[in-house]
Amino acid sequence: MVARILDGKALAASIRADLKQKVAALEQRGVRPGLAVILAGEDAASRVYVRNKVLASEQTGVRSELREFPSSVTENELLDGVAALNADAAVHGILVQLPLPKQVNAARILQAVSPAKDVDGFHAANLGALLAGNPSVVPCTPAGVMRLLEHAGVRLAGRQAVVIGRSSIVGKPLALLLLQRDATVTICHSKTKNIESVTRQADILVAAVGRAKLVGRAMVKPGACVIDVGVNRLADGSLAGDVDFDIVKQVAGWITPVPGGVGPMTIAMLLENCIRAASR
Ligand code: NAP
Repeated sequence: MVARILDGKALAASIRADLKQKVAALEQRGVRPGLAVILAGEDAASRVYVRNKVLASEQTGVRSELREFPSSVTENELLDGVAALNADAAVHGILVQLPLPKQVNAARILQAVSPAKDVDGFHAANLGALLAGNPSVVPCTPAGVMRLLEHAGVRLAGRQAVVIGRSSIVGKPLALLLLQRDATVTICHSKTKNIESVTRQADILVAAVGRAKLVGRAMVKPGACVIDVGVNRLADGSLAGDVDFDIVKQVAGWITPVPGGVGPMTIAMLLENCIRAASR
């Protein structure tokens, strides 16, 4: 069996085309969605991510502004920056690019963002609403994964879903979303014993770890839907996911590539969250 490819790039492009029309409709009502991005420090990967997000915003008609801070920025300076954006009526979405410099408590900055403008869905109020089963703003990467599964028509109810990784921005919210769709969900992490025996039960297997090629053939149930969230930079400069794509595609039923799978969906969901915030 050779797995079918879940093409996140194509799906994200079609979502962005729809969003562009929504922006045009909002503009007719005199509202131009605005996204502000806070970038602190010199992290090279963050700069690439931010550039892609700003570019995608502009292409969709969302006004974007970049607030840059040096790596020596203090927590109070960033809190002041967030407060100014919270108060700015032209800004509907605020994104704090992680990681922040180490002298800054990132959690404190994320909690300072107004929940209504928290387009990443990282604020405790938004994560709490998700936990309560009444989601408001859903974190972009988990939302993108769910949209990919929906688009492919992957059945979730009553099936085994295994998520590897328990971060608050990917693994945990994704597990909640899968649970809401009636999957039976297991979360694995670095202390999970005999992980292969768990992942081999998965009808839907999601890897959100950050270890290149962690998921090999022995970890995958034949026919499973394998979603690779990981983004890892290899020594030769190329990108690889957490899944050994060439090997696993021979056994899986569905698989996402890296790049071109979850990554573009994350950006599409960010824009969707921002446009939804503007239409409120
Ligand atoms: P993170 O906060 O570092 O969390 C990684 C998780 O993986 C942790 O829960 C950790 O377990 C677990 N883990 C580490 N080694 C493991 C192992 N050998 N076996 C099983 N579990 C293991 O990372 P994150 O922010 O969730 O991101 C995960 C990956 O997704 C990264 O590669 C990141 O770049 C990528 N990402 C991609 C997108 C996108 O749009 N495509 C968006 C966000 C993130 P413990 O909790 O026990 O430490």
